[in-house]
Amino acid sequence: MSAPNKSYDPVEVEALKPEEIDRARDAALAAIAAAGDLEALREVKAAHAGDRSPLALANREIGALPPHAKAEAGRRVGQARGAVGQALKRRQEELEAERDERVLVEEAVDVTLPFDRVPAGARHPLTTLSERIEDVFVAMGYEVAEGPEAEAEWFNFDALNIAPDHPARTMQDTFFVQGPGESGGSGGSGEGESGVVLRTHTSPVQIRSLLERKPPVYVICPGRVYRTDELDATHTPVFHQVELLAVDEGLTMADLKGTLDHMVRSLFGEDLRTRLRPSYFPFTEPSAEMDMVCFACRGESVGNPDRPCRTCSSEGWIELGGCGMVNPRVLTACGVDPERYSGFAFGFGIERMLMFRHNVEDMRDMVEGDVRFTRPFGMEI
Ligand SMILES: [Zn+2]
Repeated sequence: MSAPNKSYDPVEVEALKPEEIDRARDAALAAIAAAGDLEALREVKAAHAGDRSPLALANREIGALPPHAKAEAGRRVGQARGAVGQALKRRQEELEAERDERVLVEEAVDVTLPFDRVPAGARHPLTTLSERIEDVFVAMGYEVAEGPEAEAEWFNFDALNIAPDHPARTMQDTFFVQGPGESGGSGGSGEGESGVVLRTHTSPVQIRSLLERKPPVYVICPGRVYRTDELDATHTPVFHQVELLAVDEGLTMADLKGTLDHMVRSLFGEDLRTRLRPSYFPFTEPSAEMDMVCFACRGESVGNPDRPCRTCSSEGWIELGGCGMVNPRVLTACGVDPERYSGFAFGFGIERMLMFRHNVEDMRDMVEGDVRFTRPFGMEI
């Protein structure tokens, strides 16, 4: 396609010949179209639109032309450079779009892939179960109350009608932090002559709640308690309780029973019942043990050797904890008039409930902190 006319015109510069400009333009356009990625396009741009490119060099020659030739050469070179510039811009946009699309695909995160490099933690099931129980009662208008774990003996025993000679006060059950009559000194916070113990139950929080509030009082007291037990499959020296206290005018055992039924249905299933068996606690009168129908077999394993139930040992009932009407002496000790007010209370161990609710067989699993134990509970909300 080169021009056959080789005649030399002194005013005509080789680089400005129309066919040279067309050739330079076409070469540039072909290279631009062939550039496969942004890196290649950058090289094409330097070669065909840079300072040393044929069109840029041709442009420089225009200045040396006689005036009458300048306009024509300028228009020609300008059009060629414009065409190259536009082609570069278009190709740049195309390649950028392709790159963005490729990055979206290549760097996409598949959230369904199994994750095993950073295992997620899980909340301890004792915490989640405890909070579920709290939620049931908060929804009924109860208030969550807390108290110190190093507790004055008076709150832990005396105020709950547990006399000084009660077996629960011996060293066998109780961790003493400071004996009775020892000086309050540095760390202790004894109540007068009362000693300090690691609380053996959450009941002292009930006493504190009664002293701090005017009836009606509706509180739920979850927390850690301590007994001098060895750690084994069914005992641990530190465990968790939830206790509940309601003091109001006209409360009866029927209110207690209805509250228990509601809790059991909320935690274990709609059609479950509870029953009360006579018992004795110093701080309630009358007192009862509370049982619930086994949520696993619904009582159908009783007298049915073909369908034994591990959860209730085929007894049909599961023992939950103790309860009763608050002993009037406890109300009096807290400055509440037992002639006007009555109350009910119940309490149970969270570990025990976790054991039968989730078939946990060894209490040590709950305290050893092995994430292989807690992780399966992590999904519970
Ligand atoms: Zn059962």
